[in-house]
Amino acid sequence: MQTLDRLKMLVERNGGFVNAHAHFDRAYTTQTSDFESNHVNAHLFEKWELVNKFKSQASEERYYNHISEAIYNQIKMGVTAGLSFIDCDPISEDRALKAALRAKKDWQDKFQLKIACQTLQGVLKPEASAWFQTNAHHFDIIGGLPKKDAGREEEHIDVLMEMAKKNNQRVHVHVDQLNCISEKETELLARKTMEHGMENRVTAIHSISLAAHPKSYREEVYKMSLDAGLSFVTCPTAWIDHRRTETLSVTHNAITPIDELVPCGIPVAIGSDNICDVYKPFSNGDMMIELRFLLEATHFYDIDKLVEIATTNGRQIIGLN
Ligand SMILES: [Zn+2]
Repeated sequence: MQTLDRLKMLVERNGGFVNAHAHFDRAYTTQTSDFESNHVNAHLFEKWELVNKFKSQASEERYYNHISEAIYNQIKMGVTAGLSFIDCDPISEDRALKAALRAKKDWQDKFQLKIACQTLQGVLKPEASAWFQTNAHHFDIIGGLPKKDAGREEEHIDVLMEMAKKNNQRVHVHVDQLNCISEKETELLARKTMEHGMENRVTAIHSISLAAHPKSYREEVYKMSLDAGLSFVTCPTAWIDHRRTETLSVTHNAITPIDELVPCGIPVAIGSDNICDVYKPFSNGDMMIELRFLLEATHFYDIDKLVEIATTNGRQIIGLN
């Protein structure tokens, strides 16, 4: 049997793929006009605002259809469970949340859906804070994006942790997304996890920039992550496309450094991130493609560990166990 087929078989035998990070509410929203206007080539920060048009116009029904279509296709591709971030802010209001709660129930026999709040307007500005504070308890997991409260990242994480402690939830935070040496958000998240006594309940999503730092710093962050019981989710195709820059850094691929995290004993799961939207118009949510990208980009060939990343670690990290 070919190695790739064996990997596929072992994943199936282990309960199927778990997609530990996605945004199902905006799946399949790319349009031809996104290419004509070149929006697909905009910087990440611009894309955070470009989705506002869809978000402000989408009804609960439309959100429900996008989420359902994503789940339907995930099942066809052998995915049995997943965590989707769901927009809940002054733009989408609670329409995506209501749709997600319905979809979660409607699909429960075939797909275990967990949801986390996507705080695309931050959690500190008064209006965004109100939406977060009012609705956070409806989500399985508290999600965060500290960069949306730039300059006040620590406060952003404090707000997430306080809410999670109040509701007994896990926390998943988008960190170190820009693949640059100036970012140290994974370190901040590990420190904040320990400060709040949230050990073993916090997950770093992406941590791409970690790989750009020198070995001594990376090792320090790995030690800190072990102390904090921090877990990681890697989304290979979502970040492997980082743009060339003239900034010099350690040679690496733009991917979560799982080749170093896993041998340290740090839990890692895998996610698709965006599916066919303005961020990633060609990503179809096929977790086998994601797994293949992961093993190739990191030269990581431990088949048992790859199966854990694709299945059991995901279940653990999204709170299914
Ligand atoms: Zn995300």
